[in-house]
Amino acid sequence: MSLLVVGSVAFDSVKTPFGEADDVLGGSATYFSTAASYFTDVSVVAVVGSDFPEKHLTFLKSRKIDIEGIEQTEGKTFRWKGEYGYDLNEARTLDTQLNVFQSFKPKLPESYKSKNVVFLANIDPDLQREVLEQVENPSLVACDTMNFWIEGKKDSLLKTLKMVDILLINDGEARELSGEPNLVKAANIIHSMGPKTLIIKQGEYGALMFKDGKIFSAPAYPLESVFDPTGAGDSFAGGFMGFLSSTMNFEDANLRKAIIFGSVMASYNVEAFSLDRIKCLDYSELEGRFREFRRLTHFEDLT
Ligand code: AMP
Repeated sequence: MSLLVVGSVAFDSVKTPFGEADDVLGGSATYFSTAASYFTDVSVVAVVGSDFPEKHLTFLKSRKIDIEGIEQTEGKTFRWKGEYGYDLNEARTLDTQLNVFQSFKPKLPESYKSKNVVFLANIDPDLQREVLEQVENPSLVACDTMNFWIEGKKDSLLKTLKMVDILLINDGEARELSGEPNLVKAANIIHSMGPKTLIIKQGEYGALMFKDGKIFSAPAYPLESVFDPTGAGDSFAGGFMGFLSSTMNFEDANLRKAIIFGSVMASYNVEAFSLDRIKCLDYSELEGRFREFRRLTHFEDLT
């Protein structure tokens, strides 16, 4: 029951065909920890600048998220600007400003070192390793990344992947990381880089898990209105890892349930800008949508 995440805490500026939002709360660790907080205790390692308002930290604390590992330092908070066309599966990054992350040297609070489940959310792979190396003996390590790091820091990313049990990335990133357009072949190549379990997210088409030569496929929840996909991947990871951390069962059947909770969190997240939808969910809403996923995919065997 102790989940640790390192990742970005950010200001996002996002434009979709349905509206836009400027300098709203975002970042991989923010979405992840908020989603995971419905399942388990979660502690965050990140850095924010002197421009980061107290109200955002108050919000994280209100979700019982441990923010002792969020350092506040002189300078500007990480900023990301992106836009989506009518194909909401693909974000186009317009600007990434690492700001205070550029010189961040994470020093884990003492209580963080014994956490047994670690999520290396999307951030500089050097930083992912610096955090992981300070955790004493984690039972499960999972990781996310994106094209920015695959293109900019591939060697470092490959070092991180050697230390990881589960990698969660989207289909475009899996193709780019492996250099292979076919996802089944790409999965084999990525397994050889380290992660024994690979989860490939395919936006509105769902997610695939590749593990021990077997494939599990989950759909995405068919929503009538998708407003802003930003953070869908991170909230998927938060639901997935939050559930795993709360159960500490890493067997195939439980990983499948975790994927459905990931899909549930992602489906709520895309219904509004920033964290507006996932900041105030009820656990019964999560269970309700989990069961709708079950109905959605159930069919009888041949007789
Ligand atoms: P996703 O779940 O993939 O939609 O992730 C969206 C979040 O990733 C946004 O809130 C951004 O602040 C954050 N982000 C974008 N680019 C980066 C990056 N290069 N490193 C870390 N976080 C990022």
